[in-house]
Amino acid sequence: MNATLTNPRQDRARFIEADSGQWLRCHTPQGKRYGIPSSKGDGRYYLVNTVSCDCPDHVIRGATCKHIMAVRYHCARVRAERNVA
Ligand SMILES: [Zn+2]
Repeated sequence: MNATLTNPRQDRARFIEADSGQWLRCHTPQGKRYGIPSSKGDGRYYLVNTVSCDCPDHVIRGATCKHIMAVRYHCARVRAERNVA
């Protein structure tokens, strides 16, 4: 058996990152944030950067939520692509 342990939150973050072309670029009083559409499809956007998000997972549980992870993946990918170019 060669089972790979997957973290469901990481999987969702990858999925969200794949859609990063749809994210909004927001400038808030707290600095730059990405507006990431809610996965519930209710038309709301979460304001996210690499350390904070305004979804309940982060605000209530203090978790590194899938949105924060997605932004981290996104930043890493953008940096990697820039280095290649
Ligand atoms: Zn979040």
